[in-house]
Amino acid sequence: MTNEMNSELINRLKNEEEELVKELGEVSVKTEAGFEPKPTDFGSDTESYDGEEADEAEELGNSLSVKTVLESRLRHVRSALRKIESNTYGTCEHCGTPIEERDLEIDPARPHCKKCSE
Ligand SMILES: [Zn+2]
Repeated sequence: MTNEMNSELINRLKNEEEELVKELGEVSVKTEAGFEPKPTDFGSDTESYDGEEADEAEELGNSLSVKTVLESRLRHVRSALRKIESNTYGTCEHCGTPIEERDLEIDPARPHCKKCSE
């Protein structure tokens, strides 16, 4: 791997890390603050009220799973950065096989080879 490729990769990963930290911040704040019951305007349309309730529950569920996804993604990105530093980037964390370059192109933080990701 050339130095040029390396620095491009590091940039890409660092940008993603930054994005993830930002997004995680937003998700966490949302979760910590909890979901205050929205001031409900009952009106006469009960159907739309039910819809709101469902949306809210869904929103809470989404933000929790989004957080989990973001956190694991961030772990992968950071571990990829560490691996670049220690010159072990591009090999599967599980079996040590080199990960195909085109897979790394798609996902630079990919921790495992195709076989181990299955
Ligand atoms: Zn593997």
